[in-house]
Amino acid sequence: MAQDELQKLINLIARLPGLGQKSAQRIALYLIKNRSDLMNPIAESIKLTSSQIKKCDLCGILDTKLPCKICSSSSRDPSIICIVEDMADVWAFERSGFFKGRYHVLGGLLSAAKGFSEKDLNLKKINDRLQNNKIKEIVLALSATIEGQTTALVIKDFFDSDKVKITQLAYGVPVGSEIHYLDDNTLGAALESRKNL
Ligand SMILES: [Zn+2]
Repeated sequence: MAQDELQKLINLIARLPGLGQKSAQRIALYLIKNRSDLMNPIAESIKLTSSQIKKCDLCGILDTKLPCKICSSSSRDPSIICIVEDMADVWAFERSGFFKGRYHVLGGLLSAAKGFSEKDLNLKKINDRLQNNKIKEIVLALSATIEGQTTALVIKDFFDSDKVKITQLAYGVPVGSEIHYLDDNTLGAALESRKNL
């Protein structure tokens, strides 16, 4: 019985991105070895996070508050939104402290291989935000990969550039870079020198 539970744990861990059976076994054994100071706190944290974390209806940020702290903060500039792929990018921008506007989290980039299509981008939702708010600029902060740039062009075509200014981060970094891997200063510089798309 106990063995079954252990195997179940290993199988679950092995489903996490980048992990296979062998690393899952190593992690499971490590957790069991460190039951009180790691395994139990992780179990508790996963349970709490799962019940408390929600996706903000407005911007897609994960938070315990709805709308999220950024959407509901009066100190954030409502006239500019930054479109990013996922939460890791929001964290990168927030860590750097250069961006004072609000976000829109796409949840993925256009990719036939990953089954992420134009309807998954939910551009209508961004458009609704444009209609209901005084948004003057959309900053596209998508990775300098083919998927990122294809997505940027589709988003640009969707919006009427007479009504809203659409800019893109200026990359002082090699093509292929993902936003959340940029260091704070590079990200700040890329934002500072953003260009019209
Ligand atoms: Zn939000």
